[in-house]
Amino acid sequence: MSNINILHMNQGVGGKSYAKNSSIQMSMMSKTLTIVKDTITDMFTNHFTPFEILETFKIADVGCASGPNTLLFVSEVIDTVYNLSNQNQNKSLEISIVLNDLHKNDFNNIFSALPSFYNRLQERHGYEFSQKCFISGVAASFYERLLPCKSVHFVHSSNSLHWLSQVPNNLKNKGHIYMAKDCLPNVFEAYKNQFYKDFSSFINKRSHEILPSGRMVLTFMGRSIPEPSSNDCCCLWELLAQSLLDMVSQQGLIQKEVVDSFNLPLYTPYTDEVKEIIMEEKSFDLEKMEIFKYNWDQDDNNDKKKSGEILANCIRAAIEPMLRTHFGELFLNNVFKRYTERIADHLKIEKTKFINFTICLRKK
Ligand code: SAH
Repeated sequence: MSNINILHMNQGVGGKSYAKNSSIQMSMMSKTLTIVKDTITDMFTNHFTPFEILETFKIADVGCASGPNTLLFVSEVIDTVYNLSNQNQNKSLEISIVLNDLHKNDFNNIFSALPSFYNRLQERHGYEFSQKCFISGVAASFYERLLPCKSVHFVHSSNSLHWLSQVPNNLKNKGHIYMAKDCLPNVFEAYKNQFYKDFSSFINKRSHEILPSGRMVLTFMGRSIPEPSSNDCCCLWELLAQSLLDMVSQQGLIQKEVVDSFNLPLYTPYTDEVKEIIMEEKSFDLEKMEIFKYNWDQDDNNDKKKSGEILANCIRAAIEPMLRTHFGELFLNNVFKRYTERIADHLKIEKTKFINFTICLRKK
């Protein structure tokens, strides 16, 4: 895995790779994949549809990006279905996997990796089976319809749904780039409303596409307490806001108004908010909700500077395209140097965690 995507591996819209694989990411991936495999296995063992007569198992991975993670997920799912089809005496089962991301995603990168992906698949499971796995791409926002009605059994999304469709309209949030402790109450309200609108739209759009009893496994960032300015969801961004402001005050590299007018299209919900949206939307039952916590400095080393650097690089890989569009490229190295120092200073005083939710939904 070349990029870290704790938040948003946005190389699809032009991000560079600043960070090598991290233990946080590995640990997140393996936990999510276990849940994905268990869910698919459960679908077959509990006969969501008679397995013997199922011709094609149809899967969609939405917000797939274009790094090796993309095909890692595909490969794991194919292996799971291969094993199940053997166990269940349905060797003719075909698999369709639709990969979705925004239109600027580097789909070419995924498609160019497919020939060697298929070679490896053939080595593992034989030519005949490799001919039954169909991988395709859909470039569109997952807040809109992506697939025909009742055309998919299983939808997966990893580390994408904390990204909103847009920054809340008319947001006045001077001196911050996301929710922070001293934001005005209407900032919290605006972010929450945008998430409610987007997340319920996501669920509603998928509800048309998923077959009855089909499932979704969704992993995204959240927060641990109802308070919307909790450290585990805001601190990382507030440190970045302060690093941008350092460019205003110390180096005069940028105008304050330019920082004031930048806000992230992101939301880190509390568990109850997620549950409430699912209940109100009514198309899905929430079968499971797992909450995972990861230390910012996962390796627990004493070298806070190193931890700061790793984390700052993660964030840079994730959001640089957004920053470049708003601020230009010139001073970004200075911002991230400052950001590294600020994260390191923070870690010297306090341990902070990321919160990730994985939820499993079943279509009614
Ligand atoms: N699922 C991958 C990549 C996560 S990075 C993994 O877990 O490794 C988040 C991805 O979500 C990015 O590629 C981004 O372009 C995509 N994304 C964000 N908003 C989206 C939207 N509205 N529709 C589709 N994809 C979106």
